[in-house]
Amino acid sequence: MQFGYSDTCLAHDPGPRHPESPDRLRAIREGLKRKHGVEYVEADPASVETITAVHDDAYVEDVREFCAEGGGSWDPDTTAVEETWDAALQSAGLACWAADAALSGADGRETPFSIGRPPGHHAVVDDAMGFCFVNNVAVAAQHALDTSDAERVAIVDWDVHHGNGTQDIFYDRGNVFVVSLHEQGLYPGTGEADEIGEGDGEGTTMDVPMPAGADDVDYLAALDSLVAPAFADFDPDLVLVSAGFDAHRHDPISRVRLTTEAYALMTDRVRAVAAASDAALAFVLEGGYGLEVLADTVSLVHETFDGREPIEPDGDVSDDAEDVLAAVADAHGIER
Ligand code: ZN
Repeated sequence: MQFGYSDTCLAHDPGPRHPESPDRLRAIREGLKRKHGVEYVEADPASVETITAVHDDAYVEDVREFCAEGGGSWDPDTTAVEETWDAALQSAGLACWAADAALSGADGRETPFSIGRPPGHHAVVDDAMGFCFVNNVAVAAQHALDTSDAERVAIVDWDVHHGNGTQDIFYDRGNVFVVSLHEQGLYPGTGEADEIGEGDGEGTTMDVPMPAGADDVDYLAALDSLVAPAFADFDPDLVLVSAGFDAHRHDPISRVRLTTEAYALMTDRVRAVAAASDAALAFVLEGGYGLEVLADTVSLVHETFDGREPIEPDGDVSDDAEDVLAAVADAHGIER
């Protein structure tokens, strides 16, 4: 894969006890060191205009001033330092690079993956939250719609937390389909099956609130029986993955129990779904806080594009997960 990376993203340091640390990027790069076919690309930071295409102008100016004055706690989870502003623009710029590269034909072993931070998927139109200031994947989706021939963008968010910010930004939009697979009840507490979008966007938000304890089989069933038919219908030109790695069973902050292999399997499924619509495909880093897990799972996404065949799990969908999948199918009129 091609990884979008910049040292600028290391300078956003929320402090020694904060899980969203610059060591996350160092761990990913360490994990990729001995892998075949890894390429790093640095991209320009996003312009303020590219960011205000999805965020409120006054909010973005507030973030700039907050950082310029030295930063601090925006809320109890979300901390900035002076360098956070540049890191946020860079992180968004890397996500735009990933979308551009994919739309320019980078696929297979060249598939782009932007590893910027701060992450983005909790940032709503006019507020920072959950470690996120600028919604990188949303900025990239809008950038693609504004600057390329792409008419429809689909976002798959498999971070263990609900991608509430991305949902907020596109909730009434019919040209961006936002799917979030997340642990029910975990931060920020939103993302129920009946949240399906509104107005022009009715039907183009899909929330799959997985029960605590959900495993690989449950997640793959969601991708196969809900996301695949929904995307076939939507026919995206670009698929962006909001790739968090905190649903892993060894991640310190969730109770979903995905194995490392799940990330190869989900990568393979999303690749097939994108290919079925002849859509470009790019990955954008979100969460993932166990450094070893993060290194292993990102490496496995890479290896899947480098030709490794994922290993299918055994077992059946749990009853609790089946109830959730049925509720989502019902909300979206999908026959399973
Ligand atoms: Zn997360």
